[in-house]
Amino acid sequence: MLRPCHLKLRALYVTMATMIAEETHRAELLDGRIAADAIKREVAAEIAALKSVHNFTPRLAAVIVGDDPASAVYVRNKIRACAEVGIASEHLPMPADTTTGELLDVVKRLNENDDVDGILVQLPLPKQIAEVEIIEAISPAKDVDAFHPTNVGLLALGRPRFVPCTPAGIIELLDRNEIPIAGANACVIGRSQIVGKPVASLLLQRHATVTICHSQTRDLPAITRQADILIAAIGRPAYVTGEFIKPGAVVVDVGVNKIRDAARVREVFGSDAERRLDAVAQRGYTLVGDVHPAEADRIAGKRTPVPGGVGLLTVAMLMKNTLQAAKSRREL
Ligand code: NAP
Repeated sequence: MLRPCHLKLRALYVTMATMIAEETHRAELLDGRIAADAIKREVAAEIAALKSVHNFTPRLAAVIVGDDPASAVYVRNKIRACAEVGIASEHLPMPADTTTGELLDVVKRLNENDDVDGILVQLPLPKQIAEVEIIEAISPAKDVDAFHPTNVGLLALGRPRFVPCTPAGIIELLDRNEIPIAGANACVIGRSQIVGKPVASLLLQRHATVTICHSQTRDLPAITRQADILIAAIGRPAYVTGEFIKPGAVVVDVGVNKIRDAARVREVFGSDAERRLDAVAQRGYTLVGDVHPAEADRIAGKRTPVPGGVGLLTVAMLMKNTLQAAKSRREL
């Protein structure tokens, strides 16, 4: 029989073990590169097979207006991915003072060009351009970003033709890491047309119980702490701290933000800070998502890194959508 002093000692050991476990717990990283590479390999294999049987190569036209450096990087990555998987690509840069009419003419020409399977107009567009008019001018059959109202409607009805690339990539990432969606409490922070709304719709179609939060949501952490799957698509650096996260949850970080301040970098990245400070010294900034990585590491079960997470999936899904456009335009 254990004496009181033994019981006290045992309680002390248990407390210490719990503290050490909490200190050393680190969320497993959901590596976007592994999933993205697998998707690109599958797309490349299908494109090679289509070429040998039907003798055609899918083609993507990427239009970029102005000289926004972030947009330039995104388009460059997309063009590079096309080359990797065997999609022919056309890069169409236009000056920053392009008018709505001039851009509409380019879109019309691409719609009519039978060799072009997918049309991508990189957003955001300069202020003088009527973005909605441009999105609605793209042929829905070539709308590989899936922003056209017809494609948005089809997705909402649960019979998507194309799924927007970032939300589609998030679902692929969850599936390929065998994270159960059906029955899970999923919470999406953000209700944009590009990420928040479509990813919520997809999660609902996969039978999750979905909550959508936004800037008017009251007591956000109390809601997000219920989530088994938490998706952050806000655009605020490291906003989702430990108090937002249910222990063991899967946290998907969509945000891409720049931080420069050394003290903030140290606070946000913890043990990874030195490497990030090197990046700040070299480039003037380091990237952080909407989720606080050091705090998420302590509490979440799994999380996506930034960079190296959702962004890579976005590009891979664009390749998949372009292949799908090429096939369905030829009724294959
Ligand atoms: P967005 O159009 O600006 O939408 C942001 C959403 O977050 C809005 O719905 C807004 O609410 C909500 N929000 C803002 N502050 C909030 C707060 N304090 N609490 C709760 N909700 C808040 O942004 P987005 O286009 O969805 O992009 C979100 C982030 O993802 C950005 O960092 C963007 O760069 C990144 N992104 C990454 C990829 C990728 O491939 N990795 C792709 C797309 C976007 P309201 O609706 O009430 O204003």
